[in-house]
Amino acid sequence: MLNKAVEVLQKYFGYQSFREGQKKIVESLLNGHDTLGIMPTGGGKSICYQVPAMLYDGVTIVISPLISLMKDQVDVLISMGIPATQINSSLDYGEVRDRLRMAARGEYKLLYIAPERLESEAFQALIKDVPISFVAVDEAHCVSQWGHDFRPSYLEIARFLRSLPERPIVAALTATATPEVTEDIRRQLELVDERLFITGFGRDNLLLSVRKGENRREFIQQYLRANAQQAGIIYAATRKDVDALYADLQKRGFEVTKYHAGLSEEERAHNQEAFLYDDVRTMIATNAFGMGIDKSNVRYVIHYNMPKNLEAYYQEAGRAGRDGEPSECILLFQPQDIQTQTFFIEQNQLLEERKEHEYKKLYAMIDYCRTPRCLQQYIVQYFGETDAQACGQCGNCTDETELSDITLEAQKIFSCVKRMRERFGAALVAQVLKGSKNKKVTQFHFDELPTYGLMKEYKEKEIVDLIQLLIAEGYLQVTESQYPILKLGERALPVLKGEERVVQKIVIRPVQLTEDDELFEKLR
Ligand code: ADP
Repeated sequence: MLNKAVEVLQKYFGYQSFREGQKKIVESLLNGHDTLGIMPTGGGKSICYQVPAMLYDGVTIVISPLISLMKDQVDVLISMGIPATQINSSLDYGEVRDRLRMAARGEYKLLYIAPERLESEAFQALIKDVPISFVAVDEAHCVSQWGHDFRPSYLEIARFLRSLPERPIVAALTATATPEVTEDIRRQLELVDERLFITGFGRDNLLLSVRKGENRREFIQQYLRANAQQAGIIYAATRKDVDALYADLQKRGFEVTKYHAGLSEEERAHNQEAFLYDDVRTMIATNAFGMGIDKSNVRYVIHYNMPKNLEAYYQEAGRAGRDGEPSECILLFQPQDIQTQTFFIEQNQLLEERKEHEYKKLYAMIDYCRTPRCLQQYIVQYFGETDAQACGQCGNCTDETELSDITLEAQKIFSCVKRMRERFGAALVAQVLKGSKNKKVTQFHFDELPTYGLMKEYKEKEIVDLIQLLIAEGYLQVTESQYPILKLGERALPVLKGEERVVQKIVIRPVQLTEDDELFEKLR
């Protein structure tokens, strides 16, 4: 059976072979199993049902949520010589009737329908005569309220399946793989003894990295200078960030364009085209940019902010390297991003349960920024692929910095922050630890603290760097008021108590360790 499928693939679609994930899904469908296929955007989901559709008797119904995408797909199929058509709200009754009659006569192999049609009685009456052997539900996560684009009309699908004289085989396809969504798809679509395949999340050509504590603007300028000939996207969290970054880069002579929902429709269309046709290399955008955009030669995706969860991150980052060429996905992590995302969650009027869910996903995103493990492996495991190996090429796999035990330094810093009553910023804390005679230090009598001068062998800048790292790792928090103030985070207490150690990839100058009982007293 699979041989036949490969023949169809080559003859109509012009591809030599199935991708690994496609093969499993197609095989399962041809063996007559309901199949739930989870594959990232760009993984090639359409082939998974289009090829079996050619091999089944009768007509395949494809339920798809976006009219524009539906039209594109139908056009492509027709151009390949596959009889297909679509039924959506843009057609009048007569047209719907004619197309369904043709389908009943077997004149189409694939019939794309918008889910809203399922609710129409006229449609229900007409579809009864169509011999349906296979139903493919595209973007199946739309059936789940946990998913990001819930469509109530997707809930009609199960009833539709039940109403058919013979239950067809069902394929559900999506790029969203969280367990809640998977479970919902299974339940709401009433899948029967289904096979689940989660595949293809690893993308060998993406070089993932997370950078912490960078001066983000400087980093981007340097990066753009070094990659001037390459096309890339820079994602920022808010329209304001996009505008500011755009203005800054433009002022400095970089050729950039921008995209967010606050721009006029013409402006958006114009900027998008400029980017798609390589008139401008760099697109600065909010997450409003990218849906349905298939630009193959995007060489880098830089995130100026940490997104709200890994689904969002990987979808955006995954717009790099569609052509399979090596491409970079860089996330510039700042601890403030956690506050921004927390604020977004709190601001939405969400049910308690939903809120918790969003937080859980946010924490996984934060962990991604902090983990010393392989980033590629971290992501594919998050999406449910269990047998992933370390990629050997991401920022973490190639980071040769040795792990250093910085517990003692961390304890000194935490202790100092605490003794300064968590009311001052990183600069002053560093000065106190350095033993500076700065006016502010003496004015507040910080030179009388037991932690004063406790890190005098370090440069002030080195202490600030350490503090930044401890912030990024969640040991310290910065509260944003008029002046940023350092506070101890939850992870700091066990370290202060000596219950946990702080081990980080960081180069610190070897410091003479002295057996110092007094020191221990001072830190308590
Ligand atoms: P998805 O719907 O999962 O986002 P698509 O079905 O649009 O992905 O496919 C993504 C890209 O991969 C398309 O450009 C498609 O032509 C290509 N593609 C899909 N399957 C194969 C294959 N077996 N061999 C080569 N290219 C493929």
